[in-house]
Amino acid sequence: MSDYLRNFLANDWQPESGRVTNLLDPITGESIARVGGPADNLDVGFTFARTRGASALQAMTYGQRAAMLGDISKVLQSNRDAYYDISLTNSGTTKADSAVDIEGATFTLGYYAKIGAALGDAKTLLDGSAAVLSKDLLFQSQHILSPIRGVALFINAFNFPAWGLWEKAAPALLSGVPVIIKPATATAWLTHRMVADVIASGILPAGALSIVCGSSAGLLDALQPFDVVSFTGSADTAAIIRSHPAIARHSVRANIEADSLNSSMLGVDSAPGTAAFDLYVNELVREMTTKSGQRCTAIRRALVPANYFDAVAEAVAAKLAAVSVGNPRNADVRMGSLVSREQFDSVQAGIARLASEATVLYDGSTQALIDADPAIAACATPTLLGVRDADHAALVHDHEVFGPVSTLLSYRDTEHALSLAHRGLGSLVASVFSADSAWMAQVGRELAGTHGRVHMVSPDVGKTQTGHGNVMPASIHGGPGRAGGGEELGGLRALGFYHRRTALQGSSVTLQHLAPTAADWNI
Ligand code: NAP
Repeated sequence: MSDYLRNFLANDWQPESGRVTNLLDPITGESIARVGGPADNLDVGFTFARTRGASALQAMTYGQRAAMLGDISKVLQSNRDAYYDISLTNSGTTKADSAVDIEGATFTLGYYAKIGAALGDAKTLLDGSAAVLSKDLLFQSQHILSPIRGVALFINAFNFPAWGLWEKAAPALLSGVPVIIKPATATAWLTHRMVADVIASGILPAGALSIVCGSSAGLLDALQPFDVVSFTGSADTAAIIRSHPAIARHSVRANIEADSLNSSMLGVDSAPGTAAFDLYVNELVREMTTKSGQRCTAIRRALVPANYFDAVAEAVAAKLAAVSVGNPRNADVRMGSLVSREQFDSVQAGIARLASEATVLYDGSTQALIDADPAIAACATPTLLGVRDADHAALVHDHEVFGPVSTLLSYRDTEHALSLAHRGLGSLVASVFSADSAWMAQVGRELAGTHGRVHMVSPDVGKTQTGHGNVMPASIHGGPGRAGGGEELGGLRALGFYHRRTALQGSSVTLQHLAPTAADWNI
């Protein structure tokens, strides 16, 4: 029988409980692991983390906690072969796509180990310098950041079972805050295995890391004042979380990362045949096909000057036609499957919905799948849609199809392109491709108000740019409005979510006593 993914609460693996749900191989449809129903002992587990976990973590310095992150990264690296196998079996991803998740996780941990080490022996962070409050200059106010006295509950989406955990856990643990992770059921196996490996390594103190798989029932009810919750997933679930009584009553801080209709803009200077045009086409194809388009940052709306519309459509279609789709166990397959048959159905329905106001410019479904049964496998082939009269299309700005799907939209001039980008009502990322740096900088400024990140690619950075959809730990991840209003990563900025800011007022003589165990919050 397939493995049962037991919960780990109060430093103990919990017995099976509740109604079992099977995790399936999205290529073969076979059951590969099981999770349980509503978790038992949630209150005991949350209390244990809040008390034992937090006090052990917060007895350490930032430097000691940073060293633990480095050790966790090494444990994960030493088990990476198993993670690739699980990713293939549970997420249906090729090795390259699994790497985005798995190597992204260890890279982010390594990054926080490094910048955390710079905080050394500190136990408190100073936010700016002291402000003078009295005429004799003696009475002053110093803002400090201290770790929250609660737990960090993470409720994650199905598309990043590895990175999705560690990009949140790295800044939380560095801050001294215990973590309780609830992975999305469909792909919980990889998260569970990583947590089990880290628990077995003994690196973390008891209570620092817990996991609940399967049903989310009761998790939000267990939240108390000073806890935080960080959610990644759909806007519908986000709305449930925001309005949950425990969150409202206890002022629980909530970080939300939700749907996003990201756009990418090709500059008018970048005609077919230019380097920026080629970079744009390559990026769009990469964004549509990486992880089968199941990235919250993927390009959903491709904004191109009206007179290049056909050339972009042809160039993208030619590249998409070369993307082989099917069972990632076959070395000839370039793009694997979606995570589940439910997601496959949702993507097909989404394409049909968008096609009610868009033209299909490329339809990959005429291609045969490699080593996969189209009646069982969750393999979606790429689809490029197009709308020439972008002002009269509404769904494309509103409906996120979470798969290998993007829509070309033609624009008249810069103002028109910007107004189309803004119709996403707040996105995680927009990218701009051009050789005209001054124009790109101007567009970047204009897009900043509705985007968490603006990725500008000129030919000089064509080879070194980090990719429209790749989230780098040094840059923030999150976006306003529809994208959820959250903010993660961004170097030490990420620690802010797991700390309380307090104004300490007193004599400068008293405040000076903070210095030996404090570091500047250098952001
Ligand atoms: P989802 O259905 O909202 O589920 C997300 C998580 O919430 C899962 O762990 C789910 O558990 C849990 N959940 C569901 N109902 C809940 C409730 N009532 N209370 C507490 N937790 C609950 O989203 P999804 O379908 O997994 O993810 C796809 C979406 O995530 C896409 O729209 C994508 O844009 C978005 N996403 C955003 C980002 C970002 O960083 N902005 C990143 C990745 C994905 P179960 O799985 O057990 O139901």
